Amino acid sequence: MDRSWIQISNRLCKEYVDSVEAFVNLVENHLNGEEKTRCPCRNCRNMELKSLDDVERHLHRLGMSFSYQRWVLHGEEIDLSILTFLVKLMHIKVLNRWSSKSFDMLLQILKKAFPECANISSILL
Ligand SMILES: [Zn+2]
Repeated sequence: MDRSWIQISNRLCKEYVDSVEAFVNLVENHLNGEEKTRCPCRNCRNMELKSLDDVERHLHRLGMSFSYQRWVLHGEEIDLSILTFLVKLMHIKVLNRWSSKSFDMLLQILKKAFPECANISSILL
């Protein structure tokens, strides 16, 4: 999917407005239980939970974060399978001689930061 619209500085042009609308339509099916989602605007940078109306307003006013090219927090599938992710994670642990305690701490923080992916870390905990 073309993400070049993220770089458009004129956020009033049709291409930008249509692209924000397409993003909002995509995210509509991935709201949390409180009808909120992470706001990918340049100010919030996916750290804040907002209503879809607020997210749309932020995207028009502030623009989408340039670095948010893969919309994994908004329903876009990632290429990495769960198994591949776990194998890579264990590989990093072994290569760096992480203690089990530090690895568990990493999994806990991943679980808190990405609650929608909690099932991944629960496999190892
Ligand atoms: Zn925002």
